[in-house]
Amino acid sequence: MRWPITDLTGKHFGSLVVVENWGIVDGKATYRCRCDCGTEVFVKGKELRRAKKTTCDCQRRRFLGSFSTPAEASLAYRKFYALRSG
Ligand SMILES: [Zn+2]
Repeated sequence: MRWPITDLTGKHFGSLVVVENWGIVDGKATYRCRCDCGTEVFVKGKELRRAKKTTCDCQRRRFLGSFSTPAEASLAYRKFYALRSG
């Protein structure tokens, strides 16, 4: 039996696009999403709606990859998110 979940196919959440209403996993509506970079990830509906999960984390990885030391990356990372949330 297919559980009824909200149809979010084709909807955009940040860099993610919902490609399929996957179904109920662990009692929660779960969606198969594709990121801008082409990576597919499974995301819970609640995380999408609260904008908790809007990329497959590729942007963060790409961002951190441009720094030579972990300390430098960590500092820049904090600034980056401070800017984004403000
Ligand atoms: Zn990605």
